[in-house]
Amino acid sequence: MPEPPPNSNPPSAGNQKEDPGSPENSPISPIPPISPIPPIMSDPLVRGSDYLNAVRQIAIDPSTIWSGGDIIERIQVCTWIGEHIETINQQLREYLEACHQCFPASERREVVIFAAPIAPDYGIDALCNILVDPVAIVIDVGRTAPQDWLSIVVHEYAHAYLRSPGHDSRLLEVLTHLCLGLGLEPPNATGMDERAMDRMLRNWPHCNATPEPLAFWQGNG
Ligand SMILES: [Zn+2]
Repeated sequence: MPEPPPNSNPPSAGNQKEDPGSPENSPISPIPPISPIPPIMSDPLVRGSDYLNAVRQIAIDPSTIWSGGDIIERIQVCTWIGEHIETINQQLREYLEACHQCFPASERREVVIFAAPIAPDYGIDALCNILVDPVAIVIDVGRTAPQDWLSIVVHEYAHAYLRSPGHDSRLLEVLTHLCLGLGLEPPNATGMDERAMDRMLRNWPHCNATPEPLAFWQGNG
């Protein structure tokens, strides 16, 4: 039997944690990317449901993506997603491109970005799956005001750029570069030990949380 080709994960992948409350990066093998492009002809409910299923396949773990409490809520959210997700994703792609512009073309990694509601149990507003190629960023845009969406993209982009989930001095350097390039306040870790820096960087750039994340996805944001 021929051996499968070796995967291209960085040595650190799979044994570190993303933001607090997120799952371990448990999958060992890279998951083949599936583009969450829903069929154009279907109705909004089917389109939204197909979209969320596709995003689940590129998330660190499918359960990180919200799956809803009751049928009425699921219909409401999936229908809203089917009608509006492309506009939101277009905005996120523009922010992603702004991040790309901070680096020479030769240094840019291929990154895909999608908006989706994240399951509340995880307590995170975004995730970056460095185990898939291209690297996949999922942002729960219901968890922050639209003026903070760029900040969330910047944070996850820094992880994607480094292909590392760590909140260390390398992330500090990349985040500082991005913040200066995009007119955001850069992090200041002067005098901080590793733990303090980790704590600060996990929430940098700082974003205010919305009181009801799901309200956005129900069309009441
Ligand atoms: Zn992070």
